[in-house]
Amino acid sequence: MPARTKGVFQRQEGKMRHTKNGISRKAAAIAAVLAAAIIAALVIPGAGRQPFFFGLTGGAKAGNLAVSLTFDVEDVDDANETASIPAILDLLGRRNITATFFVTGRFAERYPDLVRRIHGAGHEIGLHTYEHFFPVFTEAHASKVAKAFGTSQAYVWMMSFRTPAAFEQSIRKNQRAIINATGGYFPKSFRSPGLVTRWDPSDAFYEALEYAGVWTDSSVMQDFSSAGTVLAPVHIRGAVTEVPVARGEDFLGAASASPAGRALTERLRMGNIPLVIMLHPKNMGDEELSGLGGLISGLEGRYNVTFLTIASLAAQTAAR
Ligand SMILES: [Zn+2]
Repeated sequence: MPARTKGVFQRQEGKMRHTKNGISRKAAAIAAVLAAAIIAALVIPGAGRQPFFFGLTGGAKAGNLAVSLTFDVEDVDDANETASIPAILDLLGRRNITATFFVTGRFAERYPDLVRRIHGAGHEIGLHTYEHFFPVFTEAHASKVAKAFGTSQAYVWMMSFRTPAAFEQSIRKNQRAIINATGGYFPKSFRSPGLVTRWDPSDAFYEALEYAGVWTDSSVMQDFSSAGTVLAPVHIRGAVTEVPVARGEDFLGAASASPAGRALTERLRMGNIPLVIMLHPKNMGDEELSGLGGLISGLEGRYNVTFLTIASLAAQTAAR
């Protein structure tokens, strides 16, 4: 992690930092909205126990929790990826869970049957660029990503779109591939490869999404760095809402049931903020699948859980 990150979703000592690309005014407005939401959750009696996502009433459990399971599908040459997707679909089907799969255009073209099967099971299909390149448009952003990934800036730059126009074109190609694979489904949610947007959630990035007809983005990390700062899904511009990712594969199984894992989930629950988990089918074997089952059972044991797609989380935010 770079020592200092800037942008819409990073706060330093409670203040938005100014950025060179002119997003500071919007960032301040978003910070004010976030602050109001946090204050409301802390001050209004019962606010923390009345999630706006759904209308379940609490029983003996600790409260209501919205959970979004997301799967990034990207690697056309990884045999484990194509092999594990049917097993994941079986597990989700058995547990009656609707999830989101962010699928690259290349994957949708190579494995249309698999994409059709995901869609047919009722899951949301989202976008992950056509070729799994990074939406990075400046060398400064490339440098931050390189530092975080422990690789060279030249490599990140080589794997990046470099211009918003090239990025937007890739999203449109990704949309066409999914429309073709599914027989007409138009994907409206996006996730950045490598979650690189977390290091520079720029105007240019969200503008490209808006122009391509994307409604929801899930490309920044949740902030658990200090008390009271967890980020709610937030409307950015046009129809675009940002839904932060809470945890990844590291939260499967025992990790989510540990004291730290429970405390993290509880912080989200108290702020009415969804628990968004980012997973990769290429990394999922028997152990991870059973870890996913354990995560689901653990959460359902403690909360009245509603599993929602990324698009429905954003729609609930927009309607609030
Ligand atoms: Zn990816």
